[in-house]
Amino acid sequence: MGKLDVAKLYKDNAALKRIATMLEDAFNSVGERIRADLLKAYRENAMDSYADFIGKLDSGALSGEIYPRLGKFSEHKNWQDYATFNAKAAKQEYRHFRTWEELRPFVNFISASLKKADARANESYEGARDSFVYKNLGKLSKVIGKRQDLKNAVIKFDWQGGYFKGNLQVYLEGAYFRGDIDIKYVVRTIPNVTPYYQYPLVFVEAEVGGKHYQRPSEEELRVLLSGVSSKKYEEQKVAEAAAEGWCPMSGKDAGKSATKRYDHCPGCGAWTSIQHYKFRKHKTPAAEKAATASKLTESGYCPKSREKVSAATIATIGPVSGYGDPKVACEHCGQLTRLDAQKDWIFEGVPQGGHATKAIVKSARYYKHKLK
Ligand SMILES: [Zn+2]
Ligand SMILES: [Zn+2]
Repeated sequence: MGKLDVAKLYKDNAALKRIATMLEDAFNSVGERIRADLLKAYRENAMDSYADFIGKLDSGALSGEIYPRLGKFSEHKNWQDYATFNAKAAKQEYRHFRTWEELRPFVNFISASLKKADARANESYEGARDSFVYKNLGKLSKVIGKRQDLKNAVIKFDWQGGYFKGNLQVYLEGAYFRGDIDIKYVVRTIPNVTPYYQYPLVFVEAEVGGKHYQRPSEEELRVLLSGVSSKKYEEQKVAEAAAEGWCPMSGKDAGKSATKRYDHCPGCGAWTSIQHYKFRKHKTPAAEKAATASKLTESGYCPKSREKVSAATIATIGPVSGYGDPKVACEHCGQLTRLDAQKDWIFEGVPQGGHATKAIVKSARYYKHKLK
């Protein structure tokens, strides 16, 4: 796989992992045509840019700074994306050209280069393959859910009507479904090379428990395969989200906060960003705190590390030295622990012109400390 590690996303489900590999193989099986189309577009674009660049460099149409300050347009400033300068043949040590005038005398030592074009085409190809796998697997994981009883799966592609028309068949224990899985793509070349991809997946038929279904929707297929009703499924999802610490306001309308970019969530109080008038997916402060605490404990630290000392414990701390950190027995582990404290000087009883040396602790946090 490329940058996107889909296998890792679905590591807990062997069936989905297997389907992920199949999707990738299926894409690769027809991928040479896609890769060739991408290479052709990127190379043609590079050769056109190169011809234009050499013409303009030679004629003097390019002049002045190659890399002007921010905001100023400079045509062909990325000339090395499609051209190479042969410094050795020009008997020049490699140097950085600042202006077109500096580069112009060497025009005969510049040649076309397709290295970058090829790299971009390959990158685009890998990106396309990854998102093909990712998008289809996302849909399939919704309908398959937690089932892992995959018996067989087949994907076949044909080139029809200008795109890859695919047929996907999935066999589970006592269940079967079939879908149309397509790869459509267009490579636009003006003004830049920009490939567009689409990967529609439509469920065509299903057979579950001996019964046949035509064109089930994603939701219908999910219910058929899992036996879990839509209402129950929603409840399960809400319960799972809560168990994972997600605030139920996640993704909900931000109400009167809608026009702000950030606000306190009315559900959990967390400072939350708002996108498209909805609260971003966020965990409750309690869940965040628990996660931090468990991370600390895992690495051998007391979960009270960096936490606030309770008011009751603060009240037990008498006057302390105004300099240096006070200590107190940690409420969790009992160890005498250094505090990051806010203090007020005690001026009472200090003679005129003298310096206060004692202070009273107003509030404090435990320093990070290890569990014994
Ligand atoms: Zn919240
Ligand atoms: Zn402690």
